[in-house]
Amino acid sequence: MTDFQGLKAIVTGGASGIGEATARLLAARGADVAVLDLAPDTVAPPLRPYRADVSDDASVRAATARAVDELGGLDVLVNNAGIGAAGTVEDNDDDQWHRLWDVNVVGMVRTTRAALPHLRNSPHAAIVNTCSIAATAGLPQRALYSATKGAVLSLTLAMAADHVREGIRVNCVNPGTADTPWVGRLLDAAEDPGEERAALNARQPMGRLVTADEVAAAIAYLASPAAASVTGTALAVDGGMQGL
Ligand code: NAD
Repeated sequence: MTDFQGLKAIVTGGASGIGEATARLLAARGADVAVLDLAPDTVAPPLRPYRADVSDDASVRAATARAVDELGGLDVLVNNAGIGAAGTVEDNDDDQWHRLWDVNVVGMVRTTRAALPHLRNSPHAAIVNTCSIAATAGLPQRALYSATKGAVLSLTLAMAADHVREGIRVNCVNPGTADTPWVGRLLDAAEDPGEERAALNARQPMGRLVTADEVAAAIAYLASPAAASVTGTALAVDGGMQGL
């Protein structure tokens, strides 16, 4: 498929996991793709690497301006960079709450602010935010993370309403537990990673985790011209986790 031919995209957090799978898929379908990431050193051609910290407004503005300049415009923004935190409300202190909010929520606001003036020049402007089933599932031991993803869901709906008249679509994907380096790191920290992975798979309705490629395919759909009438939507890619 070459449905992204001629389109220019920025993917934040595109050096790993869901972001990397998305950046590669958009490029394979014809897009010119810039990756904004804290650690862009592993980003290989044809993807274009830019070092950026979404929790730092100056860094986001500078990297976005450079990327848009080198891409020659911008049609698609994938707000994907995010970090996790485990625990109940008693387990995380104020600094941890502020840090997660700053990366997972305000990080998306910063990149969107930097991208909007350029997206307004595109006839195919689309923003896709990586949310999570944590936004609505009431997951145990994920109070802080869930709160940030709940905010991402609300932000997506508000942004969709604010920019629909400008021809800019805004949607989000809600992955279930996805097999990415992030989840790999959590499993590696367990006493018996193999046993922990088997138990995690067994808890999934499909008996396995969602893959990064499956989430990327949903992001690509929402970003593509095929979704021209789709805005203000959350697309779950969770193996039936919430529906069953
Ligand atoms: P990952 O850790 O594999 O990749 C995250 C990427 O984001 C990394 O390349 C990292 O360097 C980058 N990043 C982190 N902080 C950054 C910052 N401040 N500035 C710029 N880049 C930064 O994680 P993943 O599993 O691919 O997760 C990607 C997104 O998917 C996150 O928003 C996460 O909340 C969401 N998500 C993941 C899962 C899952 O099970 N893996 C489930 C639901 C939602």
